Amino acid sequence: MSETYDLFAIRYGHHHRTATHNFLGGDPHDGPMPLDYFVWAIVGAKRSFVFDTGFDAPRAAKRQRTLLRPVGEGLKMIGINPDNVEDVIISHMHFDHAGNHELFPKARYHVQDTEMKYCTGRCMCHHALRIPFEADDVTAMVEKIFADRVIFHDGVSEIAPNLTVHKVGGHSKGLQVVRVLTRRGWVVLGSDASHFYANFEQGRPFPVLESVSDTLEGYATMRWLASSNNHVIPGHDPLVLERYPAALPDVGDIVRLDADPIQRN
Ligand SMILES: [Zn+2]
Ligand SMILES: [Zn+2]
Repeated sequence: MSETYDLFAIRYGHHHRTATHNFLGGDPHDGPMPLDYFVWAIVGAKRSFVFDTGFDAPRAAKRQRTLLRPVGEGLKMIGINPDNVEDVIISHMHFDHAGNHELFPKARYHVQDTEMKYCTGRCMCHHALRIPFEADDVTAMVEKIFADRVIFHDGVSEIAPNLTVHKVGGHSKGLQVVRVLTRRGWVVLGSDASHFYANFEQGRPFPVLESVSDTLEGYATMRWLASSNNHVIPGHDPLVLERYPAALPDVGDIVRLDADPIQRN
């Protein structure tokens, strides 16, 4: 039997901004277009996986982002104890995806070769390229390498049955997306391969970039990997919380991505 996974998006943070900041070349209809911050949980019959680790309160203060709920708390609300998580997949090493270094004491971390090479190499000599990175997120991952807690991937890898990672690059040089089989088909968790639905639907990249061409190719790869465009999940879009059903009663910001999107009139 084909193993399927339950899939959750868990919002943990928020940031007010306008549309101009979300598209390469700006936006002629500049209006409010806030970012939400998420981590994702991939829950199988035997094992659970966490995709990205978010940021903590001190980092939120430093970066002037709003921490709505600590990442560990959100995971516990859906029954995942961070102490027991064995596998964490990191999309890329930006501050909002690779923080909370001590939250998963037993976990192995899955990262792309290219991403670690990028965030520890000569490109970080350039202020413009290192802005989204924090040195202590990077050094914490290097420490984990030396503690035998990092598994490197190069391109496409199978993490578990029906759960694979795919390097797309673009936004960060070694960015990887997750493809996972759910009861509604193959869902792609894009993380920052597409911040908003509008980025990949309209072919308009988010302006934090390592490569425009890889970003655009990444949109095509995600569409190809997913069962439909409705199965592609952007990394920062508040619309995700509107389009998918709540996982828990009276909690508006933890949703089920293995469920079909809500049909609205
Ligand atoms: Zn990013
Ligand atoms: Zn991000």
